Amino acid sequence: MEKKINSRMFLMGIMAMVLTVVMTVSIYHKAFEKQQKEDIRLYGRLLQDVCENIDDYSQLAVYADEEMRVTVISAEGIVVYENNADMGIMGNHLDRSEIASAFEKGTGESVRESDTMGQQTYYYALLLNNGDVLRVAMDLDRMFSGYNHALMGIGVVALAVMFISVAFSVMLTKSLVKPIEKMAENLDDIDKEVPYVELKPFAAAVKNYNLQKEHHALIRQEFTANVSHELKTPLTSISGYAEMIENGMAKESDIKLFAGKIHFESKRLINLIADILKLSELDEGKSDISVIKEEIDLFEASRNVVNRLLFKAQQSDIKLELVGEKAAILGSRMQIEEMIYNLCDNAIRYNKQGGFVRVKVGKTDGKAEVSVSDNGIGIPEEHQERVFERFYRVDKSRSKATGGTGLGLAIVKHAAKNHKGKINLKSKPNVGTEIKITFEK
Ligand code: ADP
Repeated sequence: MEKKINSRMFLMGIMAMVLTVVMTVSIYHKAFEKQQKEDIRLYGRLLQDVCENIDDYSQLAVYADEEMRVTVISAEGIVVYENNADMGIMGNHLDRSEIASAFEKGTGESVRESDTMGQQTYYYALLLNNGDVLRVAMDLDRMFSGYNHALMGIGVVALAVMFISVAFSVMLTKSLVKPIEKMAENLDDIDKEVPYVELKPFAAAVKNYNLQKEHHALIRQEFTANVSHELKTPLTSISGYAEMIENGMAKESDIKLFAGKIHFESKRLINLIADILKLSELDEGKSDISVIKEEIDLFEASRNVVNRLLFKAQQSDIKLELVGEKAAILGSRMQIEEMIYNLCDNAIRYNKQGGFVRVKVGKTDGKAEVSVSDNGIGIPEEHQERVFERFYRVDKSRSKATGGTGLGLAIVKHAAKNHKGKINLKSKPNVGTEIKITFEK
């Protein structure tokens, strides 16, 4: 990041500098040329005055500057005075544009390569009172020699500015990045010292992520402790009964009873492990409905569940019924049936003799929903929010006695969440319970 900011700042600096130099040089070039030509014309006008007051053009030598060519041309185009070249080799000058213009309008100027000196030259010519033309001229090289010196100066200054700007950009980037690096050193309290307002949402997101991570770690830790405890209890009693049989401490008549207990506890273990596996699958997103997406009719799914539980309900003297109509959703059939199964299973287990369990499927405002209601023991208000937590039970001994694992409603909650279903629980102790899942359209 530091490198990126540095190189970008440097590039921007260079671009700005090059642009400034190019523009300054071109403006300066134009202004300098204008000024130089103006000076040459002024010099010409001065010499014009001088010419009016001398008898012989050779006296011009006193006033002529050696950098400047001074020429006088007669009306016939013959060079009658020249300070810097041999007059003998100079031809007729009437065809020179500045001379022709001076004879015609009084003054004339031009820029061209000199026939005599062979260099690009600026000429300015003026008509004298006696009908001759005075011409002053200067090589462009000489004219711009001062300017070229100035250009070198500009180049040196530009280089110096470049080095200074590199140094500044390095310093500036360091001072910009340092607080961010410092912020990253303390991720736990990242929101405490946020150097720039723009980084506040980022810091808040990191903090939130950290909190969530901590929360998940805590839940996982708690879950592991609970699982170990839940596994240990049945295993301890299995081991105890088995040991008594092994040592011959169990009477002949007890052996059948103990075997029954071992059978019951091992079934509980199997159920528990199955539920843990289901939950961990839901956790890992293996059965995420984005992977398994099929059309499921809630009514048909409920009928399958009811058929599986009819015998259990009959045994407990509970009336299990299914009412309603077709209502389709998209998702995982296995998760949906598991969800309805757990709700019905609870409604049977936490019921009274002669009670009923009603599964109702339908649509409200176009949203598919399934509800399971019973007239069982109900859930006291203070427990209602917590029963969906893993291993949370209102009455532990009743849960265990009826083969509960404490994970049934946690699985319901997970499966509903995977299908974007909302859970609604209504319950009154000794009156009954209704749990309704409403799915998004
Ligand atoms: P469990 O395996 O113990 O039934 P669940 O997660 O399925 O675990 O349910 C958590 C607790 O919620 C149960 O132990 C029970 O106390 C209570 N509960 C669940 N369903 C009902 C219901 N229909 N009526 C009364 N209490 C219920």
